[in-house]
Amino acid sequence: MKAVILREFGGPENLRFECVPDPVPGHGEVLLRIRACGVCYHDLIARRGRLGGIPPMILGHEVVGEVIGIGDGVEGWSVGDRAATLQRMSCGSCEFCEQKRNSLCKVDRRFFGEEIPGGYAPLMAAPVLGLCPVPDSLSWPDAATVCCTTGTAVHVCRTRGRIRDGETVLVTGASGGVGLQAVQICRLSGAKVIAVTTSHTKVGALEASGADHVVVAPDLDFAPEVKRITSGAGVDVALEIVGSAAFGQTLKCLAPGGRLVIVGNLDTASVDLNPGLVIVKELEIIGAYATTREEMALAFELTAKGHVKSCVSEVLPLQEAGSVHFRLENRQISGRAVLVPDDV
Ligand SMILES: [Zn+2]
Ligand SMILES: [Zn+2]
Repeated sequence: MKAVILREFGGPENLRFECVPDPVPGHGEVLLRIRACGVCYHDLIARRGRLGGIPPMILGHEVVGEVIGIGDGVEGWSVGDRAATLQRMSCGSCEFCEQKRNSLCKVDRRFFGEEIPGGYAPLMAAPVLGLCPVPDSLSWPDAATVCCTTGTAVHVCRTRGRIRDGETVLVTGASGGVGLQAVQICRLSGAKVIAVTTSHTKVGALEASGADHVVVAPDLDFAPEVKRITSGAGVDVALEIVGSAAFGQTLKCLAPGGRLVIVGNLDTASVDLNPGLVIVKELEIIGAYATTREEMALAFELTAKGHVKSCVSEVLPLQEAGSVHFRLENRQISGRAVLVPDDV
């Protein structure tokens, strides 16, 4: 097959469209004919060598496809089934998995596109413990992005953030895939949303997603405007999708008793934190990582019923992976770009 290979960590130019052997499904795996794969900011961080995996690698954890082969020991999957990957594996039976805290599973924490060859390819051998069924009514590109955008938003807003009717929520990095879906999930829960973006060109997409206020802050100096919007009170919850570059401003926006849910850290840097602020304001700092199977099913249901709109903004051939990475890195993509392989 011809796939996008990362032979060494580095820039987008390191993504090469080359011939490699077809994958063969092993024990507990199926062979997927890939129909679409979303390009996530996570992939850029992996490409730079800041996450798991050792080159040569095939990136891509937002994968959907059709089952065309079945390995040994697989039950519950048949040829022709539509499948989507979760972001990472979990064993399904350890103490954390039993508590539905699959993000914390240490028995199997392989990530698709890192330790498991991913979706920038026409074929993939996928362990079925990392797969979910895809409703027939969804298009392949829409389905590809559900796990990591809507599914993550369900995990962040509902499971981890416990966002309730009437609360005010700040969303940083709101014009990306997770952000646009988080805005919609917050609104479904009855919350008011203040969305932060760095570009005027992204205001329309945020308003269409239901954001009550959009703050454009190219230099990420958004706290004064958020304070003004909330009449000085601050927000009940902040969803930190940008990470370290926005962290100081986000902290300033929180009301006493506020909850800060951290789900993104684009530049993988550290932050300064004065513990005194957390103490006197009794803030809660909450991490949010990967989507569970149950959250994925809910995200598919919300999408299929039309309660949440897809954030797919572009569908491109697989060989465009490098240029998509370049444009995503330069903030030229709102929502999600999706790669689609030629038929094999
Ligand atoms: Zn992703
Ligand atoms: Zn486990």
